[in-house]
Amino acid sequence: MKAVVYKGPFTVAVEDVDKPAIQHPNDVIVKVTSTAICGSDLHMYEGRTAAEPGIVFGHENMGVIEDVGSGVTSLKQGDRVVMPFNVACGFCRNCSEGFTGYCTTVNPGFAGGAYGYVAMGPWQGGQAEYLRVPYADFNCLKLPEGTEHETDFILLADIFPTGYHGCELAQVRPGESVAVYGAGPVGLMAAYSALLRGAKKVFVVDRVPERLQKAREIGAVPVDFSAGDPIEQIKDQTDGVGTDKGVDAVGYQATGRSGGEEEPATVLNSLVGTVRPTGALGVPGLYVPADPGGPDEHAKQGKLLVAIGKLFEKGLRVGTGQCNVKRYNRQLRDMIIEGRAKPGFVVSHELPLTQASSAYDKFDKRIEGYTKVILHP
Ligand code: ZN
Ligand code: ZN
Repeated sequence: MKAVVYKGPFTVAVEDVDKPAIQHPNDVIVKVTSTAICGSDLHMYEGRTAAEPGIVFGHENMGVIEDVGSGVTSLKQGDRVVMPFNVACGFCRNCSEGFTGYCTTVNPGFAGGAYGYVAMGPWQGGQAEYLRVPYADFNCLKLPEGTEHETDFILLADIFPTGYHGCELAQVRPGESVAVYGAGPVGLMAAYSALLRGAKKVFVVDRVPERLQKAREIGAVPVDFSAGDPIEQIKDQTDGVGTDKGVDAVGYQATGRSGGEEEPATVLNSLVGTVRPTGALGVPGLYVPADPGGPDEHAKQGKLLVAIGKLFEKGLRVGTGQCNVKRYNRQLRDMIIEGRAKPGFVVSHELPLTQASSAYDKFDKRIEGYTKVILHP
């Protein structure tokens, strides 16, 4: 079968690899219909991780079940399903308590597994014609038959729940104001989720005009940080107080106002400044325990100069970590089915899998409006 194979920094190729087969009675094989490229795939693509050439990318996957292991009870051939990017067992302590992003079964020595991702276990990615899904009863979310809402449902694999998770971590409640830093796909999903949760006013901070325009279109207030200090801009619009809550949808690859050089702590420190005393921050944006390409010695070891004193002084709460997709994907699916949520507005391109190489290149360079790319095998 065809699959997107990592060849080395800044190179992927669509190549023939072995088609996956049932290896355990709890597996299913999914014929992939949609698979998305994620900003976190670029961390591997750019050679910033320990990913070895040969890995098949793809943790955001949906499709139709083609083959069913003998131990699978709730699924059958022909079912349309979307899989959380988290691979999870369903029975370890963390899974039992709802923390499926921290499953201790699927990735021994670590907590948390994913398809097609370095250090997240042996699970082949789904940017391919077929995907093997382990613990399939637990990891497949059933979707209505047919092809309706395909570009909405594919976002249930990661970015819609992850954006929602940012709001959950920040405990966004109806009537609150929220500042979301980053108007990439996850930031837009976080802003959209804050509005779905009844926030009264949502600010979205970025510097890219098209991204800020998308934020405006969904009813958020765009804040262009290249035009002036975002903390001041937001305080000016919140009676000088700041927002009730904040979400970091940027992570460690943040850049300062001048652009150029990475300043990995700048978003966290901006949030400490933006959110009012006793507020809360949600941090779904990715930070890593080691970043060999980081801008200074501390950053290389995953350590940042965060204004912890100010954080303490303001009594801010902070929630971090990757999304436990299964906590939200069923409810968010139902909001899509009922027409209450249409996250697909964030998708910029839909392309055949065979164009993956140029799609990665253009997405990495952020050219031609590439923001969220869906590949169809
Ligand atoms: Zn992703
Ligand atoms: Zn588990």
